[in-house]
Amino acid sequence: MAEMLTGNTSAQTPNSGGKSFLKVDAKFPFCKGCGHHHITHAINDALVKLDAEPRHVNITSDIGCVGLVDVLFDSVHSFHTTHGRSTAFAAGIEIADSVLADSKLKNIVVIGDGGAMIGLLHIVNAAQLNVDVTVILYNNFLFGMTGGQNSSFSPPDFVTATTPRGNIIPPIDIIALLEGANAGFLARKTATDADLSDTIAKAIAYPGFALVEVLELCTEYALRGNSIRGNKLAEIIPGKVMELGIISDKRDKVEFGKAYKNKFPRPEKTAELKESGIVPRYGNSLEKKTGIVIAGTAGERVQSSAYMLVQAAVLCGANATQKNDNPVTQGSGFSLSEIVMSREEIYYTSIDKPDIIIASSEDGVRELAAQGVFSRAGVDTMIIIDDSLDVPECSGKILRFPLRRRYSPGNAAFVGILTAVKTTGILPMEAVREIAAGQKKAESLLSLIDRVVADN
Ligand code: SF4
Ligand SMILES: [Mg+2]
Repeated sequence: MAEMLTGNTSAQTPNSGGKSFLKVDAKFPFCKGCGHHHITHAINDALVKLDAEPRHVNITSDIGCVGLVDVLFDSVHSFHTTHGRSTAFAAGIEIADSVLADSKLKNIVVIGDGGAMIGLLHIVNAAQLNVDVTVILYNNFLFGMTGGQNSSFSPPDFVTATTPRGNIIPPIDIIALLEGANAGFLARKTATDADLSDTIAKAIAYPGFALVEVLELCTEYALRGNSIRGNKLAEIIPGKVMELGIISDKRDKVEFGKAYKNKFPRPEKTAELKESGIVPRYGNSLEKKTGIVIAGTAGERVQSSAYMLVQAAVLCGANATQKNDNPVTQGSGFSLSEIVMSREEIYYTSIDKPDIIIASSEDGVRELAAQGVFSRAGVDTMIIIDDSLDVPECSGKILRFPLRRRYSPGNAAFVGILTAVKTTGILPMEAVREIAAGQKKAESLLSLIDRVVADN
């Protein structure tokens, strides 16, 4: 993690040279006076102070008004998740990066007190693991976006939409709770603290789990029935002054990725291991990053055929990614794969405008329509479809082939892929043949390739 942080983490004025990670025209959607303004700017200032490399930063947002934060940032990765689960998503991303890759990604979670209440154990678990995730907890003591309801962080006597006569349940002290989970870095600040960004920078730089609870006001709902002031938030619990500042900064803890690699060192790349990978042997004719969406019916080898195409692309010296989708029932309904191929490294694996769409069954067409894939087709999108099917009105060039009738339903997706390869010439068919020759059913796959080559 240290590699991405080249700047200082002190309370000095940032040597930013006007640099910002926020969009130039970022329009903050928050209500007037909302603490979210201060905290979000402080996160940006912290990243500037750290001189962070944007491609090594990922902001994962939770649900609520705080869920609008990630889109305000430019150039960094961002990920909007389900309510309360943002820390779990970020921990997963971090573990993949630290265990499987070079651990350069810095993961920051932005979550409200509502999300922290719903997903509390995810935060505790991330602290236990000591994954290199920094949680910025926007604590305004209530659910803002849904109408100002009580949360587990609401102080005693707090008036909210669901506690009109005052809250009677003691609030969670998340700092104390996480100290119990042996968290490495814990801090509590208020949104208007002048040095908030310094604390956030230290939390981000900390090599392991860190959480900064930032006390703030929801001006829309908290001011209605409560006489509180933004500069007195540490005293919001009657009879108690909450400790502010850095409360824990343990330097003897080992970050999860390091601990994992220490315990399970990766084997040296032996000659044997190297040989088991795909060594490019062919060229390709990819003129640009190419997105292909293949959809058919579960059990008709949609995803395994797509994987053969990905392997063939790598055999041709291209980079390739594959994302699969199917219903929870796994063995029924649709099956879908999205493939991206490029001569360049692929940082964005989604397909905004597909270059090729392959639909091998009615289930596939239905799902492509439901996911808006047809409506995102452009005039130059090639649509290869079984000749028994109709396509919703869309741009794109439709090519109909008897995929199911002539080659059988079980082969329709694979034949659709072969047809795309043959029609576009993006990869040599020999590369697909070589990958097919290594499969369990090599004989029938190779004979299919011969038929498709002869037929079209
Ligand atoms: S509803 Fe509350 S938390 Fe949401 S933007 Fe408005 S003031 Fe901020
Ligand atoms: Mg809240």
